[in-house]
Amino acid sequence: MKNFGFKISKPRAIDLDKADTSLYKKLIRHVPSLERCMMCGGCTATCSVNNHTDFNIRKCHLMFRRGQLDGLAAELDKCMLCGKCSLVCPRGVNTRAVIMNMRILLGGASYERRVSHAVRK
Ligand code: SF4
Ligand code: SF4
Repeated sequence: MKNFGFKISKPRAIDLDKADTSLYKKLIRHVPSLERCMMCGGCTATCSVNNHTDFNIRKCHLMFRRGQLDGLAAELDKCMLCGKCSLVCPRGVNTRAVIMNMRILLGGASYERRVSHAVRK
């Protein structure tokens, strides 16, 4: 076959029927308000960290929802839990609680120990 010097990219479409959404279902049980999210991006636009880095809370939520969890824990660690995003959300989503719970679900028991230790301090 003739080599044209480029190849067809792998399709980026996501088959949601095959995506592992088990953690997302747990997240919804902990923070039911998340079901009201309409992905408007208001939380990202107002985020203090987003103003200075490429951290994007809306994208993190979407990746978690689709079961795309690689590197997500490190990304969520950039959030400083200031709560500004919760104040501006037009749907009343408790985004701060969403982030905390995503961290716990991704980090498991070790993260919960870190959090409870920090709270005790
Ligand atoms: S501001 Fe609220 S509704 Fe908009 S994307 Fe963020 S969480 Fe969803
Ligand atoms: S709580 Fe986190 S995601 Fe929300 S505005 Fe503050 S730094 Fe950004």
